[in-house]
Amino acid sequence: MIIESKYAIGDRVFKIVSMRKEVTSDCPFCVGGGFIRGANGEQRACPKCFGRRNQTEWNPQAWQVPLENGILTIGQVRVLVTNQSRKEEYMCHETGIGSGTLHSVDDFFETHEAAVAECAVRNEKMSVDAERLVSATVIQP
Ligand SMILES: [Zn+2]
Repeated sequence: MIIESKYAIGDRVFKIVSMRKEVTSDCPFCVGGGFIRGANGEQRACPKCFGRRNQTEWNPQAWQVPLENGILTIGQVRVLVTNQSRKEEYMCHETGIGSGTLHSVDDFFETHEAAVAECAVRNEKMSVDAERLVSATVIQP
């Protein structure tokens, strides 16, 4: 049995990553006050933000080629083959070899252009999936 890998030791590759952005805004329930005043004048911590006054949301993930650590140098190849599956992973000089980040072959590309193109494909697919999800949850009267 000969096990082959897409990339070899020393190859330089472009990695794409899925990033989510943390967005903080005023709590809409207490309008950023942190407390709710009852009819008798008593104040209680806002039940939505628990007095924190703000809420944190995560923007949808988006695939991109990171500016830093976008180019990696293959330092270790790991191919795991079973009857049912095949897994190809890499460790790179920039992110640690032996201990460090394991990268999937699916996120590596030979050129920056190919990496950017794949990001566009994955982001387009995600927005289509998100629209499907939204339209599926609309309740018809
Ligand atoms: Zn609140």
